[in-house]
Amino acid sequence: MPQIEPAKLAPGRWHNLPLALPGAPGNSDATMHTFVRRGRKPGPTLFVTAALHGDELNGLEVIRRFMRSRKLRGLKGTVIVVPVVNVHGFGMGSRYLPDRRDLNRVFPGSASGTLASRVAEVLMQEVVLQSDYGIDLHTAALHRFNVPQVRAELNNPDVEAMARAFGVPLILNSELREGSLRQSAGNNNIPVLVYEAGEALRLDEISIRAGTRGITNVMMHLGMLSGVAKVRTDQTVADTSYWERAADSGVFQCLVKPGTYVKKDQLLARIIGPNTMEATEVRSSRAGILVGLTQLALVYEGDALFHIARYRGMSEDVANQVERFHEELGPEFGT
Ligand SMILES: [Zn+2]
Repeated sequence: MPQIEPAKLAPGRWHNLPLALPGAPGNSDATMHTFVRRGRKPGPTLFVTAALHGDELNGLEVIRRFMRSRKLRGLKGTVIVVPVVNVHGFGMGSRYLPDRRDLNRVFPGSASGTLASRVAEVLMQEVVLQSDYGIDLHTAALHRFNVPQVRAELNNPDVEAMARAFGVPLILNSELREGSLRQSAGNNNIPVLVYEAGEALRLDEISIRAGTRGITNVMMHLGMLSGVAKVRTDQTVADTSYWERAADSGVFQCLVKPGTYVKKDQLLARIIGPNTMEATEVRSSRAGILVGLTQLALVYEGDALFHIARYRGMSEDVANQVERFHEELGPEFGT
């Protein structure tokens, strides 16, 4: 029997419901704080999770702003938000749990399994399985930056409709990964979007604004909030993506901006070898949109440098759409 019982909560305000997790040695208390708000009118239940990877922080601020939204006064249904899922990793500034496991590979988890597996199980029972839909907020991994993008399994029409409603220009069609929250929810017929934006251990204003607006848009789409989400006509869907890797070790000098269109064979970066003081060129092997890139200026041969997505009907227009989107969300923060 889950501890969270939304039907018993007074409607119209947020309730902080702490869930006990296995503690750290010498510190018996570890708590996953969930916040639940029930509307005065019936409707579906949506969960929003963040920091499932403990060092991915944008989602926490997205949720804080979302929780303060005046639009929630007209909420139909219930929202369950979890600003920090991976409490143990968060406290260490780490993506992983102290048992070095990736929480997003152990779902649905087990009450008798590893630490990671037990945390996954609590989230699954208390939050995911109580919901009809979900949004899981992520950033790129440490020292990498992702342009705001939604990742979803687009062969499911419900998921595709949610992904489009979220309202960012870039949608990556992505297969379900074994052991992920998205897969486990999907196995229970709970459609889940993953929003990926910004960088681990940093806050990025455009990513936060787009995320906050995205949740509200999806809730309008689901009939949980009044109003109509502006439907973008300029969204593009990526079918595939690839990583351009470093051909040499050295100092990485980036020559392109995230979100831009790169042509085949375009010069993307130089890697300067300190022994020779010669530069090795990095060129794109295929055309596409630059959706993610490393933030480190020191790279090893083989390091992933540029994440390039390939779109249906790809053209330079896509890059213009990403640029317009950044202007729309605040030119002062434009990249
Ligand atoms: Zn993540």
